[in-house]
Amino acid sequence: MSCTAIVGINWGDEGKGRMVDLLTESFDVVVRFQGGTNAGHKVINENGTFTLHLLPSGVCRKGVMNVLGNGVALDPEKLVEEIEDLKAKGIQISPDNLMISDRASLLLPWHRKMDELEESRLDDKKFGSTKRGIAPFYSDKHLKKTVMAGELFYPDVIKQRLKGLREWKNLELTGVYGAEAVTEKAVNAWLKDSCEKLKPYIRDVRSYLREAQEDDKRILFEAQLGALRDLDYGTYPYTTSSNVLTAYAPLGSGLPGAQIDHVIGVVKAYSSCLGEGPFVCEMKGAEADRLRELGGEFSEKDGHPYRVGPIDLVATKYGVQVQTATEIALTKLDILGALDQIPVCVRYRLNGQEIEEFPFPAALPQCEPVIEYMPGWKCDISDVRDWWDLPEEAKAYVNRIERSVGRVVRWISVGPERHSIIRRG
Ligand code: GDP
Repeated sequence: MSCTAIVGINWGDEGKGRMVDLLTESFDVVVRFQGGTNAGHKVINENGTFTLHLLPSGVCRKGVMNVLGNGVALDPEKLVEEIEDLKAKGIQISPDNLMISDRASLLLPWHRKMDELEESRLDDKKFGSTKRGIAPFYSDKHLKKTVMAGELFYPDVIKQRLKGLREWKNLELTGVYGAEAVTEKAVNAWLKDSCEKLKPYIRDVRSYLREAQEDDKRILFEAQLGALRDLDYGTYPYTTSSNVLTAYAPLGSGLPGAQIDHVIGVVKAYSSCLGEGPFVCEMKGAEADRLRELGGEFSEKDGHPYRVGPIDLVATKYGVQVQTATEIALTKLDILGALDQIPVCVRYRLNGQEIEEFPFPAALPQCEPVIEYMPGWKCDISDVRDWWDLPEEAKAYVNRIERSVGRVVRWISVGPERHSIIRRG
């Protein structure tokens, strides 16, 4: 049995979804093990273009079982919407290709509201939350103040539990934030309109995965976000509220103790950062505007520009280490084809010294990037499918990244479509 993980090395949005969508041709099972609808994994294939929030990126492949593990923030309302949206676009989703762990905790009807209220209270000190309720959900999960999906099969138990939780949360909603209380009617509607529809998918995922392992099925763990957003190893407090690292995949999926043989770290050919927090390699001005424009680094929702910079070899090397990546998938290399020179952040300058090791988060605001330029290749490489057909300058850029992080770049993505890929070795 072989287990593989596909994980983000940077700040997220590296193109993990497109890599999972591509590589699921060689897997039987895809498991999301953390995070919630704050993911936005974009995949383009023969079925169309999809942005997957909670569903694993294997849903577009026939014959693949998609699993939502116990570590995810399961938002029933949004998941039902996502399933219905995909079905309307011709993707088949049924208990034959999707299952939800009975141990996944539910994002409750007040979590998104709590997120919004707190983010607006913080005003200019906000963390850049996506307001999908993720932080309130995970904190309540650890307070043991949510319910597990499997409890839906015990109606009397869950009603009692939700009553107690609602009364408790209303104290905070009304007392701390002066917001409206959540009514029993709203909770019952949520149970009926959303949770009921998910029941056919809920099952004992741990047993399923154990059997899959015994049957030598190939299992792929799909992460959300990137190493620098990990709750413990990222740029705390500008992180997400879950562990996005490979090490958490076995725990968050239902296969505690699984050994992961291959870890594909997805690295973007330049840097982008959605949200607040230190971003040492950040570029400003015309150079940033150009890169942002070329890479399409704007929010799909409201056109808000994302922060961009050159590839950050200090942060990338750290990301590779903490993710225990065994090989690299480098994405969006095509985007750099328009540049005369390619900027590379090779070191940080901290207190007058140049450093190559990623520092403790609190030191990051004092760091400055050391930028070197490499020659650009000045042509469109989006049709290249063979390493040897890449311009020498592009090969030199890839080799530089390999040398710096000490891992082989096994895949080079040169376009968003499934087959816009160069495979090596
Ligand atoms: P994820 O959250 O890590 O799956 O990444 P996102 O889907 O949020 O962001 C990646 C974006 O880059 C999406 O719009 C993809 O369609 C696009 N993309 C992925 N790989 C490539 C690539 O190699 N070239 C280009 N031009 N776009 C890419």
